[in-house]
Amino acid sequence: MAHVEALRCRECGKTFPIAPSYTCEFCFGPLEVAYDREAVKAAVSREAIEAGPPSIWRYAPLLPVDPPGDATQQVGWTPLVRADRLAAELGLGEVWVKDDTRNPTNSFKDRVVAVALAKALEFGLKTFACASTGNLANAVAAAAARAGLESYVFVPADLEPAKIVATAIFGGNVVAVDGNYDDVNRLCAEVAAERPWAFANVNVRPFYAEGSKTLAFETAEQLGWETPDHVIVPVGSGSLLTKIRKGFDELYDVGLLADAPQVRVSGAQATGCAPVATAFNDGADTIRPVKPSTIAKSLAIGNPADGYYALDTVRETGGGLAAVTDDEVVDGIRLLARTEGIFGETAVGVTIASLKKLAREGVIRPDERVVVYATGHGLKTLDALAPQSGPTAVIKPTLDAFWDAFPETKEA
Ligand SMILES: [Zn+2]
Repeated sequence: MAHVEALRCRECGKTFPIAPSYTCEFCFGPLEVAYDREAVKAAVSREAIEAGPPSIWRYAPLLPVDPPGDATQQVGWTPLVRADRLAAELGLGEVWVKDDTRNPTNSFKDRVVAVALAKALEFGLKTFACASTGNLANAVAAAAARAGLESYVFVPADLEPAKIVATAIFGGNVVAVDGNYDDVNRLCAEVAAERPWAFANVNVRPFYAEGSKTLAFETAEQLGWETPDHVIVPVGSGSLLTKIRKGFDELYDVGLLADAPQVRVSGAQATGCAPVATAFNDGADTIRPVKPSTIAKSLAIGNPADGYYALDTVRETGGGLAAVTDDEVVDGIRLLARTEGIFGETAVGVTIASLKKLAREGVIRPDERVVVYATGHGLKTLDALAPQSGPTAVIKPTLDAFWDAFPETKEA
């Protein structure tokens, strides 16, 4: 069973009952789930986890809700792939890729949505909704279909066509909003205040966000219950980055790791939407919102809800924050595909390009064990690559035509 005590304000520490709510009534700070740490500690062991299901629910005692049984898809427990060819190309030592393109709707969002859905069912809410830059839309629509809930998914109207199609197919309502993600998000907060719906990343956000910790749990377990020296995480709202760090710390707090984690956390953004990287590189304490303009649409959040906490995490752990251009993003997608056979979306291109940049700058070092989070599949963002990635040659169906196009193969 879940060992949850209350919702607690991240800013002032006041606690509130468990409910679909997300901001502090007193200071408007974000609410987080507070656990009964001793109860969690008593409930977990490496053996029990290792004997659990091949999904995020193997970590159920560390999550804020009980597994929802058949209502859930099989989410998580994705491969952690040793990436020696990528490492060699970047002059690094031990690099691993956490391949979260392998989830039911091909992004890490299936993790957070599984937890949000379980909580929505527990609250007895009948409609599942979200504000999304695409991946969350796919995940919410699919999860709602599986659980038999009605869904309303709000997205910016200029989203990649693949992400719209891969949401609409699940039969819910797709609301394309004439505005950017920050406009969509604002609208969803207004709807959430009017309707008794579960908005995954609005009124059930405190529970939803906890799902991201499973990326850290799996990473540590897959490394033989050890933590990496350095992780690199794409930054949209900033929530994923802070939760991955929190996940490592919690494993130690409940006795599942021998040593206190010393994980350096680095973040990745696109220059067309880099409010957190800009603050980091300017040495600023405030994050100035921006109007996004980048092919990495899943990270195009100009006013990131957890940006400040992400900035703090990177500074505290001695990581770095890179911003990379759209051309570098495309190169990053190609680099990972060409060296490791993993096709990531534009956000993954941002992360790989940032890995390259931070390695070149010496922020990520060759003596570190590095884990890179590949958060979404490349088939979602084909448009970003279409002009550059085509056939090597177009030929007539004859052997001579083939020899003409590839003379080097004839010699061999
Ligand atoms: Zn507060």
